[in-house]
Amino acid sequence: MKLIFLGPPGAGKGTQATGVSSHLGVPHISTGDMFRAALKNQTPTGIEAKRYMDAGELVPDSVVVAMVKERLAEPDCANGYLLDGFPRTVEQAQALDEICAPDAVVEIHVPDERLLSRLTGRRVCPKCNGTFHISSLADETVCPVCGDALYQREDDKPATISNRLKVYHDQTSPLVGYYEGLGKLRRIDTEALPKDAAGDCRREDVFQAILTALE
Ligand code: AMP
Repeated sequence: MKLIFLGPPGAGKGTQATGVSSHLGVPHISTGDMFRAALKNQTPTGIEAKRYMDAGELVPDSVVVAMVKERLAEPDCANGYLLDGFPRTVEQAQALDEICAPDAVVEIHVPDERLLSRLTGRRVCPKCNGTFHISSLADETVCPVCGDALYQREDDKPATISNRLKVYHDQTSPLVGYYEGLGKLRRIDTEALPKDAAGDCRREDVFQAILTALE
């Protein structure tokens, strides 16, 4: 199956993509993770992407599309893929349709006010790639899975978040109409799901809602 997860930063795309990709047996491809890995390895793509990422802006379409095209040509994508964070513009979606069009697009809908608290409280583990919210951590500096030191992504700091949300609404949200027009959109309204003690929805409920939407 060829799948796209669409949604604003903080919607839970990465968390859900990890579970759904292993459930479906297709690779989870996160363009954000690819850029962060490229930056860590100081490749030309990583160095070029850094200034856009730090500002909460999109990396130019030509750079992202070339990177995704190369990744989708790898053997593990023969039975499909789960793209997380790509496409982010209509131009990227059109390029993907030429390379290897998706079967379905899952839109994870979360209102902006909830995204803000999720993003400012998000901590990431550099070792196991786990993502956590400080409200669920006994010690917000230690990964509860592997014990490594957690960090806050540079672009999760308040100064960058508002720009990332604006970029999503301006440049990425038109994809909802694009895929709706193609009859491929499956919308998950997280506000309609039951809430936990902290007033947010549970990961397992979102996971189930996604599997139901894909049936
Ligand atoms: P993410 O981890 O998906 O939030 O991505 C982090 C950053 O990487 C974004 O704010 C962009 O600067 C860049 N990025 C990731 N995916 C894309 C994409 N499809 N198009 C343009 N820039 C991207």
